[in-house]
Amino acid sequence: MPDPPSSHSDANLAAHQHRQRWLATAVTLSQDRNAHVACPSCDEGILSVSEIVHRGQVVELALRCPTCGSGEFVRGRFGASQGTSEG
Ligand SMILES: [Zn+2]
Repeated sequence: MPDPPSSHSDANLAAHQHRQRWLATAVTLSQDRNAHVACPSCDEGILSVSEIVHRGQVVELALRCPTCGSGEFVRGRFGASQGTSEG
């Protein structure tokens, strides 16, 4: 039985593009935590963002859409914490 033809899956491509949109969103929010950015998944909800801070530097942003419940954790170097409540 021959193998099925291997081609790039549309699902994989869509997932990749989806991820890229979240990454772009994270970049925007890294520059302004208070920016109102529409959810890449539903285009309706305004994302909330939480900082994951390590030694005063933001190492990860937790994005969450209150409307559709989508969320992503985006790792990177986002600079010093902009949070108002230091813990
Ligand atoms: Zn959403």
